[in-house]
Amino acid sequence: MSRVLVTGAAGRMGERVRHWVEAHPQLELGAALEAPGHPRLGETLAPGVELGSDPKAALEGADVVIDFTVPGVTLDVLRSAADAGVAFVTGTTGCSEAQRQEIAALAERTPVIHAPNFSVSVNVLAWLAREAARRLGDGFDAELFEIHHAAKRDAPSGTALLLARAVAEGQGKALEDHLVLERAGETGARPPGAIGVQTLRGGDNPGEHSVYFVGTGERVELAHRSSTRDHFAQGATRAAAWLEGKAPGLYAIETVYGLE
Ligand code: NAD
Repeated sequence: MSRVLVTGAAGRMGERVRHWVEAHPQLELGAALEAPGHPRLGETLAPGVELGSDPKAALEGADVVIDFTVPGVTLDVLRSAADAGVAFVTGTTGCSEAQRQEIAALAERTPVIHAPNFSVSVNVLAWLAREAARRLGDGFDAELFEIHHAAKRDAPSGTALLLARAVAEGQGKALEDHLVLERAGETGARPPGAIGVQTLRGGDNPGEHSVYFVGTGERVELAHRSSTRDHFAQGATRAAAWLEGKAPGLYAIETVYGLE
């Protein structure tokens, strides 16, 4: 059995991750972390596991971390995990380029998976979007849409950017040169080859993503709609079990799912 440290253990994802860790035949809850001052600190979450706020103490009870928090916390705990040689699975989104580079550097010392979406089906959707973009060619304009709950802190979602990157790869170009995140006022005509992403926020929606390929007189739509967070949490536990015994390195979730 691998002992799992769940960070953000009282959060929306942390609650579901703890449930699926307990249900996994190769995993058990070893430790749980929350923010200093969190009202549930000290609560017993499993036999011998109290919700704590000291990352270094929590890592002593862990073989692998599953982290869904915020970028600053992810990096803080990963630095300590790299020192301790504890494997690390993180689904935190909204990381800056510098933070992504630091994650890659720390992965030279411990095995890491960082994925904007742990759902098998969303990763299959990205594969489909890449293949559709490749085959539809220049006659179809790519536009993406995402909606998430009102408390989400980053926009567009990491998954929307994952899907936009898959489209760009299929079209054989760099996303950064073609991404359009805002339209207002006198925008002029749509730039050829643009990849547009539109964001909605509201209610308790755990996430919906659509990829549109808009042609002349026709439109292709690929979509994924979540009604729970369980598939994200299950994917993260699958990734954590997969990392057991792996050498240090930054592994792709597509490798875990055989999608490469
Ligand atoms: P949330 O706000 O419900 O949970 C985050 C938790 O982190 C909170 O409970 C918070 O108290 C805790 N936290 C804050 N500071 C901490 C600290 N110093 N130490 C330990 N815990 C601390 O958010 P959420 O909806 O669970 O989402 C968390 C992240 O996961 C977001 O970036 C979101 O976009 C991402 N997410 C990713 C996937 C995926 O499949 N990759 C799926 C859903 C959400």
